[in-house]
Amino acid sequence: MTAKAEPLTVRDPRYDILFEPVKIGPVTAKNRFYQVPHATGTGSAMPNTRAGIREAKAEGGWAVVCTGYCSIHPTSDDRHYPFSSLWNETDIKAQAVMVDAVHRHDALAGVELWHGGGVVANKVTREAPLSPSGIGEPVYVTHPIQPRAMDKADIADLLSWQRDAALRARSAGFDIVYVYAGMGYLPFQFLVSRYNKRTDSYGGAFENRARLLREMIEVTREAVGDDCAVAVRLTAEENMGANGFRGDVEGEALFDLIGDLPDLWDVKLGFADDGVTSRFTEEAYHEPFIRYVKTKTGKPVVGVGRFTSPDTMLRQVKSGVLDLIGAARPSIADPFLPKKIEQGRLDEIRECIGCNVCVATYAEGVPIRCTQNPTMGEEWRRGWHPERIPARGSEDHVLVVGSGPAGLECARALGQRGYPVTLAEAERELGGRVARESRLPGLGAWARVRDWRLGRLDDLANVEIYRDSRLTVGNVLELAPDRVVLATGARWAPDLPDGADGAAPDVASSIVVMTPDDVMAGATPSGKVLVLDLDPYYMGGVIAEKLARDGHGVRLVTPNTAVSPWTAFTEEQHRIMVRLLELGIDVVTSHALQAVDGKGAELASVYDGKPQIVACDTLVVVGSRRPVGDLAKALDERGDDAQAAGIKDVRVIGDAYAPGAIVHAVASGHRYARELDANDLTVRVEPGDGTYVRGGR
Ligand code: ADP
Ligand code: SF4
Repeated sequence: MTAKAEPLTVRDPRYDILFEPVKIGPVTAKNRFYQVPHATGTGSAMPNTRAGIREAKAEGGWAVVCTGYCSIHPTSDDRHYPFSSLWNETDIKAQAVMVDAVHRHDALAGVELWHGGGVVANKVTREAPLSPSGIGEPVYVTHPIQPRAMDKADIADLLSWQRDAALRARSAGFDIVYVYAGMGYLPFQFLVSRYNKRTDSYGGAFENRARLLREMIEVTREAVGDDCAVAVRLTAEENMGANGFRGDVEGEALFDLIGDLPDLWDVKLGFADDGVTSRFTEEAYHEPFIRYVKTKTGKPVVGVGRFTSPDTMLRQVKSGVLDLIGAARPSIADPFLPKKIEQGRLDEIRECIGCNVCVATYAEGVPIRCTQNPTMGEEWRRGWHPERIPARGSEDHVLVVGSGPAGLECARALGQRGYPVTLAEAERELGGRVARESRLPGLGAWARVRDWRLGRLDDLANVEIYRDSRLTVGNVLELAPDRVVLATGARWAPDLPDGADGAAPDVASSIVVMTPDDVMAGATPSGKVLVLDLDPYYMGGVIAEKLARDGHGVRLVTPNTAVSPWTAFTEEQHRIMVRLLELGIDVVTSHALQAVDGKGAELASVYDGKPQIVACDTLVVVGSRRPVGDLAKALDERGDDAQAAGIKDVRVIGDAYAPGAIVHAVASGHRYARELDANDLTVRVEPGDGTYVRGGR
């Protein structure tokens, strides 16, 4: 069998309201599903990759599909982050690729025109950053340059850049054109008194601070006329008290002034609070902060909240919080989310797990990747469609060993292609690391990686699943499949790396040494616990959190300058640190472990070697993982027997191949399934950057 061609079910009439059209100024969204602007890590250098991502969503039923942030002028240059631009004719052509792709599926295309003001450093264009009063962004400084204070001529320039970019957006065919007043970007900085200290007609009283935003809306409207709707994206609450933009003060005042000026309000929160992971927030967490907006405007309002439940969406509309259901992450995890609701296929929705790997990949400057959706970013490059997959290329029977994220995705996608598949799992419980890790504090939503795949496997009669089946080489030879896929995973190792003296730290035999796997399996530490965190991602922090919640006295020691440093990319690092401190965990950064004996653990500063002794009865090493390779080795050793049994091929995938994050394991399983018997493995590569013509002064 192959992918279901036509759905057999119909939509629940309760959800009809989600499929009502919504008028947005001169254009009409065919339903209430709105993919709000979000970065894709593609920018103008990768127009086809970008178009592939957006087209999948338009095909999946989103009525509106927007670009990510799109710079109006070279004074707004965010490199090394990949951003879109509308600076010139080349950009118009590049954007039109996406617009045409979106229009092919009867969706509206929106563009988030953006000026980053004092938040960007203009590292490529080398223009001086602009701001209302010369005050830089204190939290997100990425480069040692302060913005200059804009004079009246700069403001006139800015308005002309917005006008010109809006004209280019119209030429590219966009239906909705934005003014972006959020997240510390330029028009937002004018609104907020901590940035705006001006004494002219653009500063002081709130009406003056809102003048620039009003004028930007007006010039945009002048430029696009009745051809496009004009939207404003606003950080509607910063959660910073009097130091920030407050919904009940500045927000309400703004809507009193210009509440009905644009055709649409797209509301969000500030940098720190907007795209929070599931570890720290629930679905619909924006609601209390943006609820006021609809009471202050007659224009449609779109907002986000990691919505994956149609009932939550319904509540947002029925209780008057939102008119349009905005999504970034849920549309990445499942570009076909609206279609699945429309066709009554709710159990097929591939729910976002709220891990922010998508955010991290953008922050790393590469095309967006998603833990749940391995096709994200590969639509054009590899021709991977999120729902469709080519039918099998042979009758081969495939044995998949291991039901972690790699094995489950591999078996599911092979099954979708129509291959006969046997999936064997050593444990009673399916899911491998996802099952284990989703029981750690805050990571419950990660079980969706397993649950969605098990749900799909339930529908596939050609995939047989065997639990409690730890396969030996003898079992594999006896089964004699045509192909073997080893998705046997990796386990945390208690290994301690060598220190500066070339030797591993000495650990006395009286000290209990554990790994995260031991803790997840229920091992109980005794006495004072030292979590030695050598891992850049989440595990050290979350293991420390679990042990502290279980009542143990915990100290976390890491040679890194911060706990879980890679989580800066997932925007979690600050929250993780706050949580550890709230739980009373003693955090020691920039220290290496030298030795552990009955008297305690000896630590040394990574800078000057200065020692300190801390208590330690149990050492939990969060270090590296070792692939589970026994079966692969045994099969290799019995290569002749495997050949005699008719086994054509043995492949190792997922963490057993290269230990990584869950996103890597899922992608590895999917890739094996896609590439089996494939004739064409071409990956398309984008052309390089275009050029821009510097405008203004
Ligand atoms: P990945 O992230 O690569 O999917 P996991 O560690 O999550 O890897 O999952 C690997 C799974 O493989 C585990 O559930 C483990 O029990 C299973 N497994 C390991 N060796 C065998 C084996 N010989 N037979 C069956 N299952 C195995
Ligand atoms: Fe959701 Fe994670 Fe995918 Fe981002 S990467 S869309 S947070 S599942």
